[in-house]
Amino acid sequence: MSLKEIFCQDRAIAVLQRALAAGKVPHAYIFAGAEGVGKFKTAREWSKLLLCKNPVVEKKEKTDSAEFADSCGLCQSCRLFEADSHPDFNTVYKELIQFTKDNKGRKTPVDLPIDVIREFLIDKVSTRPTLSDRKIFVASEAEKLNTASQNCLLKVLEEPPEYCCIILLCTRLEKLLPTTKSRCQIIRFGPIAEEKIIEKLKEMGIKQKQAQYFARLAQGSLGPPCQWAQLELAGTNLYETKRKLVSSLSTYEFADALQLAGWLLDERKKIAEAWAEVDKTTSKTDINRRAAKTLLQIIISALHDAMMTRLAETESIVNFDQEEQIEKLAGRFDAERLAEKIADAYKAIRWLESNVNEKLVFEQLLLNLTTHPSSIVYRPSLHATAGNWDRTDRHT
Ligand SMILES: [Zn+2]
Repeated sequence: MSLKEIFCQDRAIAVLQRALAAGKVPHAYIFAGAEGVGKFKTAREWSKLLLCKNPVVEKKEKTDSAEFADSCGLCQSCRLFEADSHPDFNTVYKELIQFTKDNKGRKTPVDLPIDVIREFLIDKVSTRPTLSDRKIFVASEAEKLNTASQNCLLKVLEEPPEYCCIILLCTRLEKLLPTTKSRCQIIRFGPIAEEKIIEKLKEMGIKQKQAQYFARLAQGSLGPPCQWAQLELAGTNLYETKRKLVSSLSTYEFADALQLAGWLLDERKKIAEAWAEVDKTTSKTDINRRAAKTLLQIIISALHDAMMTRLAETESIVNFDQEEQIEKLAGRFDAERLAEKIADAYKAIRWLESNVNEKLVFEQLLLNLTTHPSSIVYRPSLHATAGNWDRTDRHT
């Protein structure tokens, strides 16, 4: 792969190219944008170019940048890079925690801990590059850097060695401290057009209707729909699961909620199993979370569509293939209640991210999504185990 082959991020790449052509490559970047829009791929290809011994420069006309530089793909640096063994290219991610001195065997944490930043970035920065002129660090999920990690990183961001280049990949800029942001050049990665995503999924072998649904569900990201497509091609029937789920949402009653939650959990397990086969580099905990999040995203999209139907704005609903069910769902709640339920579903995603037992999260959400006029609210205690409920009467 090369920089030229990055999908639909021409504007971000043009910003990078202009700085390179002017000889002003910064020591620290933040690549900011939604999950799956190509931040990591661009960071990889950009690093490969910065490390390349013999970059190829093309003169361009009528584009955003006058020159387009790319890695040669042939030099020793490029070959080592392609083999994932370039000594001057480092990736930093939270799963590395288990390889730090004091945390052997520790489970993947929710945040990007200071021990990882210290041992895999700060400690390595001070030694000079061995093969190329630069030494590059790409940190994934920078939005999960906690305050201690960011303060630790600040030391390098304030006085980086001249050969050093740090790229922070970030989905939520507001999570980074102003001091971190002010020391980095921010490169924004925009959403990818729906028709481009559909085209790509169809090339992979996905049918039009499924491709359009996955593209709309992903809202401008390419990474997740490509993974869903791979799951689909591996026989997981994620699309069928979504059809059943949306149908159920429009009809189920309070008494069916726990059964539906049980079914959802089984589906989550099936999806995660297949996902682990498709993506072998992500930790099991993260795969499970990602599968559960996908199911919650499906629920949120249905609720959102129902709200848009209520407001008579159905043009770009995600579940265009299940209009009838969406109308039924819209008939169950008014717009205000739907907005509350969407907020509940986002809360459920936050619970999943903080490791709350997912069975409880599903049960709680589905109990609250019915039309049952109950005065009872079920609320799982944080970090609860199965069966540990807080049952409170709303009016007491
Ligand atoms: Zn090269």
